[in-house]
Amino acid sequence: MYYNNNTIIYYDGKMVKAVEAGTDLYSQTLHYGYGVFEGIRSYQTANGPRIFKPAEHYERLIRSCQLLNIPFSYTVDELTNITYDVLQQNNFTEAYIRPLVICPPNMSLHKPQSSTLVIAAWQWGSYLGEKLLRLKISPFCRPHPRSTFVEAKACGHYVNSTLACSEAKASGYDEALLLDHEGFLAEGPGANLFFEKDGKLLTPQRGNILAGITRITVMDICKELNIGVEEGKLTTDDLLKADSAFYCGTGAEISGIQSVDETVFPKNWNESLGKRIQESYMKLVREESFKNILSVA
Ligand code: PMP
Repeated sequence: MYYNNNTIIYYDGKMVKAVEAGTDLYSQTLHYGYGVFEGIRSYQTANGPRIFKPAEHYERLIRSCQLLNIPFSYTVDELTNITYDVLQQNNFTEAYIRPLVICPPNMSLHKPQSSTLVIAAWQWGSYLGEKLLRLKISPFCRPHPRSTFVEAKACGHYVNSTLACSEAKASGYDEALLLDHEGFLAEGPGANLFFEKDGKLLTPQRGNILAGITRITVMDICKELNIGVEEGKLTTDDLLKADSAFYCGTGAEISGIQSVDETVFPKNWNESLGKRIQESYMKLVREESFKNILSVA
């Protein structure tokens, strides 16, 4: 359950109880998926609960609004302060934070004239997923870059993600892996892909994927650890010949991948680059090391 009778959310300028907040049934967001959102995490650190990379997430939220022509006037600082307030009002330390920009009633297909911001959060402890994922290459491809702005985190894009994830699960796998419209590797329904080959990491280039904040964090960690990373147009064949692989995202953190379709990666996860990055990532989000990554960001 995401909320109870006492949960407080930020809704249109005020802190209100989640159970008392409602939305207009004629909202353009509800009917057409025309809205944008973010997924952020907070972690317990020696300095108390800290939101991980709030500026990067809120810059992306503002950019998503701009791409979709959704009027939105909050600044990154205002958004960050409100989010800390939501955490405090609910007494949350380790939480998942969901900002959502909702458009007003509009049954036409014209751009919205205003928007409403909601920031909800729920307790969500980080778990170090030791269970490795078994992926299925999805029959669904990621949206074509000329059918939408793929770098906007738009609500409607998640119809594609939900279809892909559900199809993979219904076929007995843990998660989907989506290709782009040209058949190159793209990403998971809610995470970016990295794989290891001969001591370095490879990841699909930007263009047909969501530019993940964790993806950049992984690259920053690689710089610190002297691990090479290459971005490019990568194929399923490249992936199937890899030594190991992982997904990364705010929710997924760093999740090791066991197999893709019937191909099992040969390298033991505990000896993979992904495992080293997973350990570094968990230290970083708890502000235990690599603090320079946070200060330069
Ligand atoms: N791709 C998709 C489609 C996603 O939904 C997410 C989660 N936001 C990611 C990648 C990873 O992005 P981030 O690291 O910013 O959470």
